Amino acid sequence: MTNKLALFGGQATITDVPPAYSPIGKEESLAVQKVMESGVLSKFIGCWHEDFLGGPQVRAFEEEAARFFNVKHAITVNSWTSGLIAAVGAIGIEPGNEVIVSPWTMCASATAILHWNAIPVFADIEPETFNLCPESVEKSITEQTKAILAIDIFGHSANMEALKHIAKKHDLKLISDSAQAPGAMVGDKYAGTLADIGGFSLNYHKHIHTGEGGIIVTNSDDYAERLQLIRNHAEAVVKDKGVTNLSNMLGYNFRLGEIECAIGREQLKKLPMLVKQRQKLATILKTQLNGLEGLQLPITQDNHEHAYYVFPLVLDTVHLGISRERICQALEAEGVQGIGQGYINLHLLPMYQEKIAYGSHGFPWSAEFCKREVNYAKGICPVAEELQDSSFIYLAMCMFDYEKQDMLNIASAFKKVWSNLGELQ
Ligand SMILES: *Cc1c(COP(=O)(O)O)cnc(C)c1O
Repeated sequence: MTNKLALFGGQATITDVPPAYSPIGKEESLAVQKVMESGVLSKFIGCWHEDFLGGPQVRAFEEEAARFFNVKHAITVNSWTSGLIAAVGAIGIEPGNEVIVSPWTMCASATAILHWNAIPVFADIEPETFNLCPESVEKSITEQTKAILAIDIFGHSANMEALKHIAKKHDLKLISDSAQAPGAMVGDKYAGTLADIGGFSLNYHKHIHTGEGGIIVTNSDDYAERLQLIRNHAEAVVKDKGVTNLSNMLGYNFRLGEIECAIGREQLKKLPMLVKQRQKLATILKTQLNGLEGLQLPITQDNHEHAYYVFPLVLDTVHLGISRERICQALEAEGVQGIGQGYINLHLLPMYQEKIAYGSHGFPWSAEFCKREVNYAKGICPVAEELQDSSFIYLAMCMFDYEKQDMLNIASAFKKVWSNLGELQ
């Protein structure tokens, strides 16, 4: 095999595509079969009744999830987007309140705030973990700030200790979006359990899934009740249930069915093994890529365990003198699948740039309850913007069922590209 880059007609390093990631097996099929035979595919009732909290699979999954994550309450929902909306409503948000959130995340982390006519304020991220930067958060606090919504992006927990400290000092609530980090750890605690309310996604691409779904976790009895109400038509239930706090008791239907919960129970048992497997693969890749110039490898901070939803990398393109696009072209030509360039800068989406969400007249930003003009201009999050514009790349580990050999092959492709950098300049 010659060392000529595939981009220039050489032989590609990798010629096969690994199978798609799938944590679903026989156990899930059997569990679904049992639910099908029972004929009860959902047992929720949207009024105050013993089935207001769902059927046997829902309740069993919630009990097992609470035990697994070592929290007082786990509440299932039909997606983590629903979970985020319920969480923001449950903390008692008022229209016009501001919630500080990272721009480097999936869009629902911020729209959950807008759903209650509250205002997302974007703080910058840290260049090592890509999570909210505590100093930037503190600078973003105003009279209107009610909460911080931290994301454990890519599977590494945000700096929850610092964020908790800030939240306490300024009397703010803290919500944790751990969609990409089920099984990630901070000390002996699970990511997602370090805030007032946190939770996980169970959608197809996440470590474990039920097709669609989500789990909310909290140690607060009060929040648990409010989350259960918002999940299931609160407004129709409050009177009979004797609930007196009517704030944000517009209920939704965020209920997860019996089939999904039966799948979830089996998936939860597999989570530790799946995360360990992902960590093992990532460690191999990290070891192999160590020492390639101008390439920042994933960083796991002391006392943390990374769940590697994706394998994040940062290129020092200035030092290398080659554009990110050129390097990715060369890697892709070598047969590396699942390479992505940049991630997301939510503040630059049209909705924030135009400030149009509800209707066409700028609501909620234009409403009287918004006490100030919130800035979404390019430049407010320089770290996130630079990563998005020129230096960040990732390997979407969530997409493939990799084996050790795949990691070695990917590493060979990187090494081949790096030993031919001169030709790419
Ligand atoms: C997947 C994801 C969500 C949304 O979860 P769904 O279950 O798909 O609604 C929210 N936040 C982050 C960071 C995610 O990765």
